[in-house]
Amino acid sequence: MNLSNRLAQVHERLHEACIRAGRAPQEVRLVAVSKTHPAEAIREAYTAGQRAFGENYVQELLTKAEALAELPVEWHFIGPIQSNKTRDIAQHADWVHGVDRIKVARCLSDQRPAGRPPLSVCVQVNVSGEASKSGCAPDQALDLCREVATLPNLSLRGLMVIPAPTQTGQDPRTPFRTLKQLSDRIRLELGEAQGFDTLSAGMSDDFEAAIAEGATLIRVGSLIFGSRKPLS
Ligand SMILES: *Cc1c(COP(=O)(O)O)cnc(C)c1O
Repeated sequence: MNLSNRLAQVHERLHEACIRAGRAPQEVRLVAVSKTHPAEAIREAYTAGQRAFGENYVQELLTKAEALAELPVEWHFIGPIQSNKTRDIAQHADWVHGVDRIKVARCLSDQRPAGRPPLSVCVQVNVSGEASKSGCAPDQALDLCREVATLPNLSLRGLMVIPAPTQTGQDPRTPFRTLKQLSDRIRLELGEAQGFDTLSAGMSDDFEAAIAEGATLIRVGSLIFGSRKPLS
C-alpha cells in the first residue's frame, strides 16, 4: 500500500468512528504526524490532499518548512517545548499543542512575528497522573487557560492530551472522557473566549477511542507514513 492509500484508509476509519459516535465526520480534523520522515513524504501526502502536518522537533520543523516553503502547509508543533526554542516555534508553526506552562505561552506570544495571525495553541493536560511526563495538572488547567487567553498573539483553541499507555483491563476511552469533561467545564468558565473548540487527542493506536469521546483533532503518524526512521 502506498502513502495515498494509507491516508485514505485513515480517513475511512475516521469517518466510520464518527458515524458510530453519532458525530459528523467534518467535526474531526486529521493532522498527519511526519516527524522523522523526509520532506518528500510530506510532499506526497500533500499531493494526496493532506494539508496539516505535525512535527515534534524544532530543527526538523525548520528544515522541512524551508524545503516545502512553496506549499501552503499548516504546521503543527506537537513536541515538548523547551524555553530556548520558543522563538523558532513562534516563527514557523501555525499551531502549538503542548503548552503546559505560562512562561512558555508568554514567550510564544511575545515572539510571534508581527503580521502573522495569532498562533493557535492547545493547553496540554496530564490526565494520567504521575504515569505521564508532560502537561499541566487537570486542576491547574482552567487557570492556565485563563492566562493564555489574555495573551495578544495567541489564540487559545482548546486542550490536548497524550494519555499514558493503557494497562490491561483499563478502558482506553477513560483519559479522553476525562479530557472532554474538563474541556466542557473550561469552555463554560471562559465564556467569552471564542474559538475554544479543539480537543487534540488520539494517535494511530487510539484515535477511534478519542473520537468516541469527542476528539476534534487527531494526530496520526505511523498509520500514514509507516514506522518511524531513527533520527540521524
Ligand atoms: C508521534 C506523535 C504522534 C503520532 O503517533 P503515531 O502513533 O505514530 O500515530 C501524535 N502525537 C504526538 C504528541 C506525538 O509525539
